[in-house]
Amino acid sequence: MSDQLIAKLTQSLRGMAIGREHPEYQEARRLYNAMIDKRPLLIARCADVADVIAAVKFGRENSLPIAIRGGGHNGAGFGSVDDGLVIDLSTMKGVRVDPKNMTARVGPGCTSGDVDHATQAFGQAVPFGIVSTTGVAGLTLSGGHGYLTRQYGLTVDNLMEADVVLADGSFVTASEAENADLIWALRGGGGNFGIVTSFLFRTNPVAMVYGGPIVFEFSDGATVMKWFRDNQPKAPDQFYMFLGLQAVPPADPFPTEHWSKKMCVIVVSHAGPLPEGEKAVNGVRAALPKPIIDWAQPMPYVMIQTLFDALLPKGLQWYWKGDFVKELPDAAIEAHLAHAAKLPSVLSGMHLYPVDGAARRQKNDATAWGHRDVAWSMVIYGVDPDPAMAPNLKNWAQAYWKAVHPFDLEGAYPNFMMDDEGEARVRAAYGGNYERLSVLKKKYDPENLFRVNQNIYPAA
Ligand SMILES: Cc1cc2nc3c(=O)[nH]c(=O)nc-3n(C[C@H](O)[C@H](O)[C@H](O)COP(=O)(O)OP(=O)(O)OC[C@H]3O[C@@H](n4cnc5c(N)ncnc54)[C@H](O)[C@@H]3O)c2cc1C
Repeated sequence: MSDQLIAKLTQSLRGMAIGREHPEYQEARRLYNAMIDKRPLLIARCADVADVIAAVKFGRENSLPIAIRGGGHNGAGFGSVDDGLVIDLSTMKGVRVDPKNMTARVGPGCTSGDVDHATQAFGQAVPFGIVSTTGVAGLTLSGGHGYLTRQYGLTVDNLMEADVVLADGSFVTASEAENADLIWALRGGGGNFGIVTSFLFRTNPVAMVYGGPIVFEFSDGATVMKWFRDNQPKAPDQFYMFLGLQAVPPADPFPTEHWSKKMCVIVVSHAGPLPEGEKAVNGVRAALPKPIIDWAQPMPYVMIQTLFDALLPKGLQWYWKGDFVKELPDAAIEAHLAHAAKLPSVLSGMHLYPVDGAARRQKNDATAWGHRDVAWSMVIYGVDPDPAMAPNLKNWAQAYWKAVHPFDLEGAYPNFMMDDEGEARVRAAYGGNYERLSVLKKKYDPENLFRVNQNIYPAA
């Protein structure tokens, strides 16, 4: 990229243009997943909507592939692009909570921790995921599930309005009242339709939860998984629990005698009155074998939201594969346990996240997120700090997935997919809504400018 072109972009931005020679280039191109090592030509670190418009026009005029970056957490590394332009929104933060009308206006660079911090001051929350360093933008646009999903729906179910810079550089607002087809597409269609420069969310009352991990011996895994399969879906909406097959982290505060042991864990979070939460969790305790660690207790909502952050800093190697799961027969449980027994590292594992309760009470075509009739969203994740481990993490995750996939549905949560899954899998991820999304893609981005994502092709 010529100095002249970089200077041209620099002049049109209030933020920064970072080329390959810029002293901040190496840091600016780093993504959360260190397995992805992309070298963009230019990073446009936007300060405001005008910058985003200028960056989109610059990318178009110079025929550059464009990646959009919010929190940079995407597993597949869609927050960057080789030899192209990254439109980096990470400094466009800012949250305005309207506690009376129960809404939060959120900048596209916010992490879910930024929003939780702001909304919790008023005892309110938007449902996000289970790690607070994740970007709100990428999480929301592909669905967003977490501790409040069963009670208040997916993140997209709480998205009321979005400001969007479209592929031609024009600016629109999308809501039920205007550009209703666009807000429909943004509720699960990923970054395919434009660059969201502001999100308006509905907030919900949440303050304390009765929650935390309850850890069982790996040898009790089959009993725990079968109980989870049979009982998790019957729990009241306020009672969320997800299941993990993983290892006890070899770090404080975990008891040293259990360090690195494989385990089966149920992480519970009851967001109703605390005595009800305790009663519900006691029911789990009574039904299952004696745990080796039981840290479920009353805690502020922000605490459960940040519980795993320290274990998963930026810069680890990640490879993951997901599936939507409707049923979990005994044979599937056997396959899970056989592969989890061969974890390649102490940070690797498998999680099953519920997608029922409020999330299920909408039809599959109510929003672009079209898998409301599944029971769980599964992710198998190989994670380690050592780059030399990358092939092991990948091979393990792929072999594990191959063994359990025959029991699962065709599609997966787009945010739990890498970039090597092929077109059929991407179509399956959007399910029955793909055709309608493809028609809307043609309307809003006919040249497929925004294609560094789980891509929806413009209809022919
Ligand atoms: C440790 C960890 C835990 C996670 N836990 C959960 C969880 O509990 N629940 C859950 O639902 N997901 C979870 N995820 C997945 C997460 O939702 C995705 O990785 C998501 O893509 C992260 O969003 P981001 O903004 O950080 O991503 P980025 O890498 O910045 O962006 C990803 C993609 O999103 C799109 N995008 C980003 N910003 C915009 C924008 N402003 N406008 C248009 N498109 C945009 C672009 O297509 C971009 O390519 C987790 C991920 C990690 C790494």
